[in-house]
Amino acid sequence: MSYRPQQVILNFHGIGTPTATVPEAEKPYWIGEGDFHKLVSDVARQAREMNLHLLLTFDDGNKSDIEIAAPLLKDLDLPGIFFPCTGRLAHAGYLDAEDLRTLAADGFGIGSHGVDHLPWARLGREELKAEIAGSKATLDQILPAPVDIAALPFGSYRQAVLGALWRAGYKQVFTSDPGFSRPGHWFQRRFSWHEGVDFDLERLTKTHSRLKSRLIGEAKKLLKSMR
Ligand SMILES: [Zn+2]
Repeated sequence: MSYRPQQVILNFHGIGTPTATVPEAEKPYWIGEGDFHKLVSDVARQAREMNLHLLLTFDDGNKSDIEIAAPLLKDLDLPGIFFPCTGRLAHAGYLDAEDLRTLAADGFGIGSHGVDHLPWARLGREELKAEIAGSKATLDQILPAPVDIAALPFGSYRQAVLGALWRAGYKQVFTSDPGFSRPGHWFQRRFSWHEGVDFDLERLTKTHSRLKSRLIGEAKKLLKSMR
């Protein structure tokens, strides 16, 4: 049986030239504007040919979300979700409350990426609550509808993080674990763009198909050994 994914989510951060305020560690995740246009156009065509639902997400809430990403997505009629950090809203180079309302009114999704861009797996209970419930409270005040999706900063999580998200009222979590996911499911895997990565959808499908059949094969062997 061959593996046929339904949906692919590609994740981006900033687009264009990183501003001086962008932390050094985030710079390899910035893509040039021309490269972004070409990549998204190519991938959109490939997804149509493969009958694959394509969703683009953008973490960190950089100003390029509304200046570069949203206009291209509108042109290509592609869905997008933006995950800002509420602690950076209205800072130089980042989205503000009005930008979020504009993006939401244009039909894009808005989710939480926490407050201060911290690795959630390493936080204690109270800090985690401040990041997860606190960012949601801020976004809920800005937007007309409650926010119920989150993207994990640094892709960092453990069981307690997922529990805290669920208790705070989130219905979907977007990870940085590479792979395909089904629309609407709780756990959404994403392929994140960074310098040198290849987003060819045929190749990604083949790689993950092999990985999946190997995992199923190993699970079967394990079950046999337990009988
Ligand atoms: Zn981030």
